[in-house]
Amino acid sequence: MRSDGERSMRIIVQKFGGTSVSSPAHRDRAAERVVQAVHNGYSVVVVVSAMGRSGDPYATDTLLGIARDACPETTTRELDLMMSCGEIVSAVVFAGTLRATGVDALAMTGGQAGLVTDEGFSCARIIRMDVEPVRRQLEAGRVVVVAGFQGRSESGEVTTLGRGGSDTTACALGAALGAEIVEIYTDVEGVYTADPRLVPDARTIAVVGYDELAQMAHLGAKVIHPQAVEIAMAGAVPLRVRSTFSDGPGTLITGPTAEGRRWPDAGTTGGRVITAVTHLADVTLIRVGVPEGGDDLAVGVGAEDPELRVFETIAAAGISVDLINVSPTVKSFIVAANEALRAKACLEKAGCATELRPNCAKVSVVGSGMRGVPGVMAQVVRALRGVGAHILQTSDSHVTISCLIPMECLERAVRALHEQFGLSARMTTHGGGSA
Ligand code: ADP
Ligand code: ASP
Ligand code: MG
Repeated sequence: MRSDGERSMRIIVQKFGGTSVSSPAHRDRAAERVVQAVHNGYSVVVVVSAMGRSGDPYATDTLLGIARDACPETTTRELDLMMSCGEIVSAVVFAGTLRATGVDALAMTGGQAGLVTDEGFSCARIIRMDVEPVRRQLEAGRVVVVAGFQGRSESGEVTTLGRGGSDTTACALGAALGAEIVEIYTDVEGVYTADPRLVPDARTIAVVGYDELAQMAHLGAKVIHPQAVEIAMAGAVPLRVRSTFSDGPGTLITGPTAEGRRWPDAGTTGGRVITAVTHLADVTLIRVGVPEGGDDLAVGVGAEDPELRVFETIAAAGISVDLINVSPTVKSFIVAANEALRAKACLEKAGCATELRPNCAKVSVVGSGMRGVPGVMAQVVRALRGVGAHILQTSDSHVTISCLIPMECLERAVRALHEQFGLSARMTTHGGGSA
């Protein structure tokens, strides 16, 4: 039962990424955002990532390195325990930063804040949110600073939600608490038409739909975790991605407006065909030969269903596959580069002749507006041809087209696609408005 106090609370969740909390100066800037929200009458839940990037003492990659140096065979359970420390350190430090500015703040681990997960260590899924402890602190007038990226299982194990998972913590808390908005503060101005580190003339997108952003995130746009977008969408919580270091409006992520509901994308695509170009680097193409009229690959599989054997072997090894292409003679798919040798060993042990093509990258165009529009693939091929990027494999959905290309072509391919679809020239300006 909710109290009157809580019913009248206007809750906002503000998430600060690793760079945003990496130094005292950056934390002060982040704290200004929190103070402003408190002054605006919000009850504030802050979610923090570990401080800094690889090499910084408590950054996630640094902690992983320490654990692996001690023992390369460390279990995922213990790696989760180790990684969770980064966010806990950050939450305690940031709560201290807030208290130093006169804001009553309290730090909590993800488990204390009510994120209950399964025991899929390193990529646990949230199964329940028990947010009463957070609510009680908000009702008492405190800002709650939650360690992102982590939860606890029913049996009390510490888990992590997958790299970049602090976004997921923020959206899960936002949805469970009925927040007015979740703000994702990061080191760029918002969601761009391509990774601004790769494409200097990429533009920020003013408004984008949950669906499109979830596709972008799945296809490599690192700015937000895909699960975070999906949770926000399921909870119908508006999201805003914006910079900790500037006052720009960033990108609003939302669903169709009441007016746009009849035409699901009308509220968010603004008439564009392609919204963004994304990329995933460092993947390996695996081709497994299967007999039937003599494919060029040697064949080792038996007479029983060879297709099943290939995919069951990979599944049993717990390796995730993507860009799957099945023909009568060849089964091919991609895996993360660091899983390729293990995949090959498992497949060969199962009697499947396996060929690796390392150093590949996946480039994708994403756009709800491409549904039913002819000629999009022709433009993709033209752009990639123009920069000598040989297409090794493709996949598509009604709102995405992905092409596997050699890694060395990645930068010029992303830029060429961005140019081909006119994303450099045009700022997507409609919609917007801050919380
Ligand atoms: P944080 O630590 O704040 O969570 P991340 O490094 O996880 O930050 O995500 C922000 C980074 O995402 C940016 O610095 C940018 O290089 C990268 N990025 C990739 N694709 C995009 C995109 N389409 N829009 C914005 N940023 C992107
Ligand atoms: N610190 C974690 C990572 O580097 C989680 C996050 O930053 O969102 O992946
Ligand atoms: Mg991130």
